[in-house]
Amino acid sequence: MTPTKESVLAALSKVQEPELHQDLVTLNMIRNLEIAGDKVSFTVMLTTPACPLRGRIEKEVREAVMTVDGVKTIDLKMDSDVPNDGRMRGLVSMPIRNAIAIGSGKGGVGKSTVSVNIAVALAQSGARVGLMDADIYGPNTPTMLGVEKLPPPNGQKLIPAEAYGIKMISMGLLVKPGQPLIWRGPMLNSAIRQFLGDVEWGELDYLIIDLPPGTGDAALSLAQALPLSGAVVVTLPQLVSLEDASRGLNMFKQLEVPILGVVENMSYLDLPDGTRMDLFGTGGGEELARATNTTFLGKIPIDQNVRIGGDTGKPIVSSFPESAVAKSIQDIAQKIAAKASVAAMSANNALPINIVE
Ligand code: ADP
Repeated sequence: MTPTKESVLAALSKVQEPELHQDLVTLNMIRNLEIAGDKVSFTVMLTTPACPLRGRIEKEVREAVMTVDGVKTIDLKMDSDVPNDGRMRGLVSMPIRNAIAIGSGKGGVGKSTVSVNIAVALAQSGARVGLMDADIYGPNTPTMLGVEKLPPPNGQKLIPAEAYGIKMISMGLLVKPGQPLIWRGPMLNSAIRQFLGDVEWGELDYLIIDLPPGTGDAALSLAQALPLSGAVVVTLPQLVSLEDASRGLNMFKQLEVPILGVVENMSYLDLPDGTRMDLFGTGGGEELARATNTTFLGKIPIDQNVRIGGDTGKPIVSSFPESAVAKSIQDIAQKIAAKASVAAMSANNALPINIVE
């Protein structure tokens, strides 16, 4: 018996996308289905190249199709097409599919470090990524990426710098060295619009935005100026910082920005003798996520190579991709990408129920 497209699709309609809680056929993730005798070929179109459950989906797809009568071989391709968050449409002239803000209740928790490394990790997975450093108080992503200046502008348009596979622009590249960075609310607002409208970003799957710390005017006007697809809050494991961080979370909630989750940075230090030290307390990020009913995205350990990499323009996910700290950041980046897909598809009403926290 020869398999038919109908019988293959029927089998595939039993495979669920674990994040989106719908089957692959309903989600239109099966493309280019061809049958040639006992051979079935098709592409599974994931919603992000950084899909954390790619292996599981591939395995379940193969198992499902092998149950179809007459199928002997499967020629399966895995590809991705990041959904465009409908809220971005019309507001931004650039084809930016998702804008994700990284915020923190206060400075010094590693928000910029996390932003830079998440952006590079997403690019490593094959996504088109931009980083907008809007931390007006300490725009240090140029140092962290080893970028000294922007390429010459193209007419009225600023060209973003490129490093480690990402495009980036920073307040730090637009002011002269030594010039004080005193940006007030209205000025910041126009600067942000300029960062979006006057920069030739090209097509981006993800624009990662390193927000100023805190919940002051700067963070607020930024979050209002941008149609954000989602926000991530970085915190330390101690309680003091938790209080600040929950203020940050509430700000996003009030602005109706979906909160993709909480990242706990500098969670612990692994010593050479195998013991683990909780330098800044323990469990704060998980507690914050639980208390605010948001997702805990993961812990990032302390590693001096993170700081050295930050100071010398070599992000840890690039210089030590196999280290525990890089692995934790790659894992968090995948979770953020998966959550952003859910948020975008819910915003576009492509999902029947709003499953964003
Ligand atoms: P923020 O943007 O929140 O002000 P930064 O990203 O600038 O914080 O980080 C502050 C300092 O802490 C930097 O020197 C950075 O290299 C260091 N740092 C951040 N995360 C880690 C980590 N997980 N391990 C070691 N050092 C870190």
